[in-house]
Amino acid sequence: MRARSLKGKAKRAAAGRLLVIACHPDDESIACGGTIAAHVADGWEAHVLVLTSDARTPGLAAIRKRECRDACEALGAQPPIFVDIPERRLSQHPDAFAAGVAKVLRNVRPRKVFLHGPIDINRDHRAAALMGRQVLRNIGYPGELYQYCVWFPTNIALGPYPLRTIGISSYSSCKDRAMACYPSQAGIIRQLRFLLRATNRVAGLLSRERDAEVFSRRQ
Ligand SMILES: [Zn+2]
Repeated sequence: MRARSLKGKAKRAAAGRLLVIACHPDDESIACGGTIAAHVADGWEAHVLVLTSDARTPGLAAIRKRECRDACEALGAQPPIFVDIPERRLSQHPDAFAAGVAKVLRNVRPRKVFLHGPIDINRDHRAAALMGRQVLRNIGYPGELYQYCVWFPTNIALGPYPLRTIGISSYSSCKDRAMACYPSQAGIIRQLRFLLRATNRVAGLLSRERDAEVFSRRQ
């Protein structure tokens, strides 16, 4: 038993680390949940950085953080890291954004980063895409960058960069369990689920999988 667990640790250390940078608690599960679970199953260590928290509704920020911890656990990721920039005002806090992201990048040293993409109807998501790319450039991030879209993920096809799909057929139920960890967002997630399932299924056609998540990819 002991030898087996040590072997597991060695496999994890060899496979590398990934970092998902998410504006809000739930973005990581909606856009990258299957990808996180698939990588963890493959021996990767997965980290999630959540940029904003909602300070307008008393108590809601703490509830959403707890939900995010549960979702990360369901996906096999490490406990999430929170930066606490005010929700809907990400673009007004470039210094806090840059400091928070750079610190986590230095600590985690990921081989793969998953970041919002610039084509999305949510303004925080768009701001994170632009500011995130700037931070990665400034620190000379040497790894792979994958950009995702939460709202209307088919919009990724409109971007100028190559598409990349990651098969999640064996992890769709794990992704569903992670999204179910967000009862405070149940209405939005219920509405998005139909679109997500369809997108994951169509992306699967591109990757010879039943289901896949789709990203735009830049080196
Ligand atoms: Zn979001």
